[in-house]
Amino acid sequence: MSVNPSTKSVSVLIPLALPEPYDYEVPAGLIAEPGSYVIVPLGAQQILGVVWGEGSGAFDAKRLKPILEVLDVPGMPEASRRFVDWMAQYTLSPRGSVLRLAIRAPGALEPQRMRVAYRLTETRPARMTPARLRVVETAADQFARTIRELAEETGVSDGVVRGLVDAGTLAPVELPAEAPFPEIDFASAGKPLSDAQAAAAADLRARVASDEFSALLLDGVTGSGKTEVYFEAVAEALARGRQALILLPEIALTNQFLDRFEARFGEKPAEWHSDLSTRERVRVWRGVAEGRARVVVGARSALFLPFTELGLIVVDEEHEAAFKQEDGVSYHARDMAVVRASLGHFPVILSSATPSLETIVNVEQGRYERVVLAERHGAAEMPSITAIDMRDDPPERGRWLAPKLVAEIARAYAAGEQSMLFLNRRGYAPLTLCRTCGHRIECPQCTAWLVEHRFRRELVCHHCGYSAPVPKACPSCGAEDSLIACGPGVERIAEEVAEIFPQARVSILSSDNLRGPLSHEEAFRAIEAREVDIIIGTQIVAKGHHFPWLTVVGVVDADLGLENGDLRAAERTFQLLQQVAGRAGRAERPGRVYLQTYMPEHTVMRALVAGDRDAFLAREAEARERVALPPFGRLAGVVVSSNDANLAQKWARELARTAPNAENVAVLGPAPAPLALLRGRTRLRFLVKTGRNVNIQAYMQAWLGPLKVPGAVRVSVDIDPYSFL
Ligand SMILES: [Zn+2]
Ligand SMILES: [Zn+2]
Repeated sequence: MSVNPSTKSVSVLIPLALPEPYDYEVPAGLIAEPGSYVIVPLGAQQILGVVWGEGSGAFDAKRLKPILEVLDVPGMPEASRRFVDWMAQYTLSPRGSVLRLAIRAPGALEPQRMRVAYRLTETRPARMTPARLRVVETAADQFARTIRELAEETGVSDGVVRGLVDAGTLAPVELPAEAPFPEIDFASAGKPLSDAQAAAAADLRARVASDEFSALLLDGVTGSGKTEVYFEAVAEALARGRQALILLPEIALTNQFLDRFEARFGEKPAEWHSDLSTRERVRVWRGVAEGRARVVVGARSALFLPFTELGLIVVDEEHEAAFKQEDGVSYHARDMAVVRASLGHFPVILSSATPSLETIVNVEQGRYERVVLAERHGAAEMPSITAIDMRDDPPERGRWLAPKLVAEIARAYAAGEQSMLFLNRRGYAPLTLCRTCGHRIECPQCTAWLVEHRFRRELVCHHCGYSAPVPKACPSCGAEDSLIACGPGVERIAEEVAEIFPQARVSILSSDNLRGPLSHEEAFRAIEAREVDIIIGTQIVAKGHHFPWLTVVGVVDADLGLENGDLRAAERTFQLLQQVAGRAGRAERPGRVYLQTYMPEHTVMRALVAGDRDAFLAREAEARERVALPPFGRLAGVVVSSNDANLAQKWARELARTAPNAENVAVLGPAPAPLALLRGRTRLRFLVKTGRNVNIQAYMQAWLGPLKVPGAVRVSVDIDPYSFL
């Protein structure tokens, strides 16, 4: 079909679950280039979109609707647009859904408004009330504040402040809507580096200078100074006029990281994560688009910021499962960071003390390169790791800590040192059971036990958030005082510690006690200030923090992560426990780590005790290669779910019936998912397993593309799944 030459048309991608852009007419007088943000009509709505390219010509030119407005902001860079295309194809998501990730800063595209703030004048109101006086006294420092800020700071209503504006006591001043981004001093010298660090830094700087894509594993034990090394690469990127992005797995780590960055570069970088206010998101989004924000530290979604001059991505703790996004468009931010770097022709650095098997195999097969930092920087030594065989040295009845571990904690406590008990289980007890009839209390909406949280006196579902008071009588047989708590969570360990060490100062670190980065900071500060003797924590304590007085680490249940059957169970357990162990003895006092286990002969425990990570990874690689699991084969997960169990089953059978036969492709399922019921939805799973060289996306497309499921049924696809629930 030919387009009427007098009408110029462009294709516009819209951030809705649509696979393709639509054509729109460009009215005379408007300039809509690829990447321009535009407002277009869609049905009765007006909607934001991005010009994706020339019109496809697939639509009748006479019936094209016109672009209504071209927004006055820098267009989406080409590398970002190609990244959206690439990701949509790889994750089998509609392109519009991926685009939505890239423009998820509501208001960022509206024209910048000036903000009106107020300063105190010499004029006083005719009538002075106590509330008015508070405002006057607060404003006496001559700082300009908005009406809202003044009202909040003084605890009065907006009306009181407006009254003072009307009386001329407060005078308006115009402020730029957004605070500027500080200059980052990339030319300043950082901390002195060891020879090993300096050599690694030189390598990294040369890569950044080369303006070419490369993927590099920065592999160094905890405390070897990897951050200082990649900061040199950041400095090089900035010196060359490029932007840099550093991805962190957890928001909780951000504040400490910002401080480190500031110590090195004199200013803090921009932040990007879900805890930011809308206004701050707008500021950062625009700052990145306009090139004013030079360094961004953020969560995985920072990959979609509209960088125009990006010259380096660092993925810190690259092995972390938190980089995998499970909801909506499911993607692995580490792998997508590599793609983004490749599209932008610059290096990506993957940093870890316990690299993922995926990355190690990529190094061994020559796709990624590696720089090793073997030594701990400074005087610190690696902690010694000992397995406590719980069959030989069992805890007392009703307790969870082995006598040997208790003795070690007592020794550290007497010496004025700190101990940490690690248990990756929130709450008091993971299961509540009736002694009379054996009934287990489950979530009504999920296939999951309710977890007792004794401080809150509630039973809670960790999957959907359902909660209920702990019942007095068994809900099944009615027996009173028959319910017992089975197994320990961190709260129960705290109870045991309080009995054994009644004088000790104990701090529980889990997501139930700590909300937001600031409460994390406060908890960590108290530990550093030695206001805490014994720390009891979930995986929150595993990462990133230096506790110089921590000398004993006890892992309460080292076998816990091995219980679930997923293919990375051993790898994840190894990584997590290795990281927990790395918290001990980071200063001059050597650390001792104790693993409570019923399986001391397990490969994971043996490798941890021997400190032989590479032997563990080699065995793990062999085991996966034998059965062609990732990274030696490919996987895709498919979950069919519905609030109507019959409908879910019917469509799962339909999928099973229509799965095409193909060489080197096995479709396993449907089977009830381990979480067979989640938030009231019945879930059935397929697992597609293929050889490494099979185009799994093409197979999935051929299978699911023609499928027309009703609205009540959801079919979600996860390429390279990390969760098998
Ligand atoms: Zn009962
Ligand atoms: Zn639930």
